[in-house]
Amino acid sequence: MSHKNFPMVPRVIFGRGSFNQLNEIIAPKRLSIHAPFIFLVDDVFKGNTSLLSRISLSYDDKIIFISAEEEPKTSQVDQLVEDIILMSKERPSGIIGIGGGTLLDLAKAVSIMLTNEGESKDYQGWDLVKNPAIYHVGIPTISGTGAEVSRTTVLTGPTRKLGINSDYTPFDQVILDSDLTEEVEHNQWFYTGMDCYIHCIESLSGTYLNTFSQSYGDMAYQLCKEVFLDNNLTEEESREKLMMASWHGGMSIAYSQVGVAHAMSYGLAYLLGTKHGIGNCIVFDHLEEFYPDGVKLFKQMKTKHNIELPQGICAHLSDEDFDIMINIALSLTPLWENALGKNWEKRISREKLKSLYQKM
Ligand code: NAD
Ligand code: ZN
Repeated sequence: MSHKNFPMVPRVIFGRGSFNQLNEIIAPKRLSIHAPFIFLVDDVFKGNTSLLSRISLSYDDKIIFISAEEEPKTSQVDQLVEDIILMSKERPSGIIGIGGGTLLDLAKAVSIMLTNEGESKDYQGWDLVKNPAIYHVGIPTISGTGAEVSRTTVLTGPTRKLGINSDYTPFDQVILDSDLTEEVEHNQWFYTGMDCYIHCIESLSGTYLNTFSQSYGDMAYQLCKEVFLDNNLTEEESREKLMMASWHGGMSIAYSQVGVAHAMSYGLAYLLGTKHGIGNCIVFDHLEEFYPDGVKLFKQMKTKHNIELPQGICAHLSDEDFDIMINIALSLTPLWENALGKNWEKRISREKLKSLYQKM
């Protein structure tokens, strides 16, 4: 048996206020005065002087504000890469992504596509990237996806939503400053936080589970329970714990896989544009038969935090629409194999998936 040899994020700085050290961390990575640092920043921070005043721009460095309204697309990555090449005299010294999973994934993908020919859609899949990416830094401002630590960048392309999974995808540097997550809106906090919780459940109950994944998954699961069910945490503690839960949840799936909720949520995202966090919640709410304990606890968390999930989002869909979602979901073989085992195709049918989608 051959074991996978995974890269990990080589450098991480953790702590409230650690964002203040960004400039000193990246300064030694500057290749020349003509090779700028490009900051991809969630446009929710436009006008946020407390954050922006701490980014010091030198020479040709630029901030590009990007909306996280929609999840990253391959066409968007290709356009950004073209814009950056046109605006820079030399290949950039680095890409710094500041935001949630959307901005982190964009930063990873852009840093890869600056050194690899062709279009980003050609790299969706596993281990298709040939050249190392340029230096890239991830700074999460909302916790849950694990995108800060993972080996993938999830993109919606012309035919599928699929990650660029490669050894060159993980960040070279991550800055974990939980103060940056202070102004996340309540529902969004829950949805993205639940992404982490669902990563734990899917990893811990999957057939791919091993001691490596389990140790991280257990830790993330405990932290999620504290954050979402414990009444004794201060807001600062809660933010720090969720940030570490996200990290450990991401580490847990690095060496295992996600499962049914993610497979079905990708279908919703592809057809309806439903975003990852809320999409996972909408699906997971109906997955008692696959994850009985996990769903029970999820419902408790939902009640405790007064979350009302959208209902009837599939009510007006045609048979063709259901087929599209089912095709996307079933194309994600590793997720099903992790969830249901090698014989997964015998254990899940198109009719079953349709009946689940019809409940959502
Ligand atoms: P997001 O990045 O889409 O952001 C969600 C919302 O929160 C946006 O409106 C954003 O502007 C806002 N926001 C972010 N930080 C904020 C702050 N500090 N204050 C106020 N508002 C803030 O959300 P997400 O759930 O973190 O990311 C979802 C994306 O992550 C999806 O595209 C999904 O595919 C991807 N993802 C990637 C991985 C991976 O391993 N690469 C894993 C899971 C999900
Ligand atoms: Zn996820």
